Amino acid sequence: MKKIQMVDLKGQYERIKETVNASIQEVLDSNTYINGPLVHEFQKNLEQYLDVKHVIPCANGTDALQIAMMGLDLKPGDEVITADFTFAATVEVIALLRLTPVLVDVDIVNMNISIEAIKKAITPRTKAIVPVHLFGRAANMEAIMAIAKEHNLYVIEDNAQAIGAYCKFSDGTRKKAGTIGHVASTSFFPSKNLGCYGDGGAIFTNDDALAHRLRGIVNHGMYERYHHDVVGVNSRLDSIQAGVLNAKLPFLDDYGRARQNAARKYTAAFAGHKNIIAPTICDNCDCHVFHQYTLRIVDANRDGLMQHLLDKGIPCAIYYPIALHAQKAYADARYNESDFPVTNRLVKEVISLPMHTELDDEQIAFITGSVLEFLNRS
Ligand SMILES: *Cc1c(COP(=O)(O)O)cnc(C)c1O
Repeated sequence: MKKIQMVDLKGQYERIKETVNASIQEVLDSNTYINGPLVHEFQKNLEQYLDVKHVIPCANGTDALQIAMMGLDLKPGDEVITADFTFAATVEVIALLRLTPVLVDVDIVNMNISIEAIKKAITPRTKAIVPVHLFGRAANMEAIMAIAKEHNLYVIEDNAQAIGAYCKFSDGTRKKAGTIGHVASTSFFPSKNLGCYGDGGAIFTNDDALAHRLRGIVNHGMYERYHHDVVGVNSRLDSIQAGVLNAKLPFLDDYGRARQNAARKYTAAFAGHKNIIAPTICDNCDCHVFHQYTLRIVDANRDGLMQHLLDKGIPCAIYYPIALHAQKAYADARYNESDFPVTNRLVKEVISLPMHTELDDEQIAFITGSVLEFLNRS
């Protein structure tokens, strides 16, 4: 059996080596390393893939989120509602901009921001909601957009984990995650579903005026050379990363299907087990692109299971072990533990198994067998 990786970037590269290498060579031959033609080409390719009017490439997913917020007319002290159960980058940029993060609980089934919790958290100072499409599963954007419309709030989608996933609407239409809110951010960190070979990120929007503002902000607030109209930052996707992304983008949907196939096999193996709550996988639905495959382990020893898997050479991880409201940097006297029953439970129950595009049946059988072996014995 091939050694099991949490994310097998090497195996993936082996299969697309020639295309990627040719794309990198094109950058080397062009000698334009920053804002070269490949960056523009990638921007256009991604706009087409997502069916969104504007993609603004930048240096990483955290910058993308920060810049997206800088483009909106938010003032220090404005409240921004986001999920308590996510990677820290989401809340970090809110705090960094001197906005007030308001962390709310998540849904026990999809682990995304809870619609009821958003409604309860709205005050006259609320200005924006930041849903995170966690682990690759689209949040309930229809409900979130309805709340935003009613209360006149911005919606900024953190789409670092769900590029390629679809959000379904009750009228039967569907749109790609990251194209529904006022603005969205994504990350091309190597282990993300569309990863480059360094740092990278992008902002998406359908709003022409906002796109114009954002293009200035990423470039020192310049709209005309050496005229700085707003305070900006320096955040660029370099041409070599754009070359890698151009080579990989045509495979993204295949990659999503490979992840979904692996997830389907995992979930089938765990079906009906009393200690395992596996992610549900709907037929003919692309609402989940499985950035992570995350189980909940109930009434059993989650940490013991993790050690058992590690001992057998199976990488696994706890995303995320600590709720954001319990982090020192984001503690706030206004929070009560009773506001976060779901997150407080998830941090104790979740475990993410290896998930990538190169998992084979033998590896999946070994992983599921090892999980069941531990749970059935204890
Ligand atoms: C990875 C990630 C980010 C940050 O992306 P970087 O490119 O690492 O800065 C932000 N939000 C979420 C949910 C992420 O998973």
